[in-house]
Amino acid sequence: MKLSEIYKSDKTSVSFEIFPPETTEQIEKLFDEIKILKDFNPAFISLTCGAAGKNNENYKTVLKKLKTDFQIDIMPHFTCMCNKKVFIDDNLEFIKSLGTENIFALRGDIPEDYKENCHDFCHANELVEYLKMKTDFSIAVAGYPEGHIESTSIEDDIKNLKKKIDAGADVIITQLFFENDRFYDFVNRIRDFGITKPVVAGIMPVISLKQLEKMTKLAKITIPQKFLEKIINNQNDKEYIKKLGIEFAAEQCRDLLKHKVKGLHFFTLNKAYSTSQILKNIL
Ligand code: FAD
Repeated sequence: MKLSEIYKSDKTSVSFEIFPPETTEQIEKLFDEIKILKDFNPAFISLTCGAAGKNNENYKTVLKKLKTDFQIDIMPHFTCMCNKKVFIDDNLEFIKSLGTENIFALRGDIPEDYKENCHDFCHANELVEYLKMKTDFSIAVAGYPEGHIESTSIEDDIKNLKKKIDAGADVIITQLFFENDRFYDFVNRIRDFGITKPVVAGIMPVISLKQLEKMTKLAKITIPQKFLEKIINNQNDKEYIKKLGIEFAAEQCRDLLKHKVKGLHFFTLNKAYSTSQILKNIL
């Protein structure tokens, strides 16, 4: 089903994000996790993509298996940073052949070995425009409740988000956040700016201090002080951190459900356990 249809419903939809593993063995492990996640009837599973075609063969393998063997709707991520039009066109043909209806259009993070001539589009709004011209996919774009790491202000970032919507995007999926008020404030601000499309909340269950540090290095994400202290003080107790992460995210989701959020999109990190425990707790 197209994103534009999924989020018309009053019922909050659930979706999952995974990434393409590097080895065949890891791919097999991922499919075991998918078997668990499938029980929660996701509206779709989204698959991230790396810069400059990294892991592209595994990306295709995972998409094909999800769609054909698992019969789960997929939302492939497409990035334009370090991916030329010809590469984008080739992947488009592939996902069209799978009968996909949705796509997540992103610029992508700037890699360390960035070269100016490695891409044909500079920003996600240009990619959205291109995809709209070439396909009739429903398109999701990224939103940043605390502002994008490169932007000088939230206002500027929202102006740029509007460019993606005006280019034809149907849905906004947010960066992860730990303070729901930041999400509600973001939604209010974009509504004031004339953006009316559904906003889906990105949720990441914390599983370790290392993972949290990695994420917060890449993005502007505030971590509540008490939550952070508990993680730091118990960083070597894996089970404790996992349980804490589940409890925290479950509480966040309950509050989002009370506020009638359109969708919960879980960054699963290719593991079903935390996400499935959260869903068992809240549904
Ligand atoms: P853009 O919308 O292009 O914005 C990037 C920056 O440029 C922002 O600061 C914005 O304010 C500014 N800007 C935007 N448009 C313009 C314009 N026209 N003129 C001037 N400035 C502009 N990365 C990956 O590599 N692969 C993935 O699969 C992936 N999945 C993601 C999933 C989610 C849910 C999220 C939130 C992020 C994901 N990312 C992924 C990370 C994302 O690619 C980075 O955050 C990237 O730095 C910005 O991507 P964007 O699509 O938001 O870019």
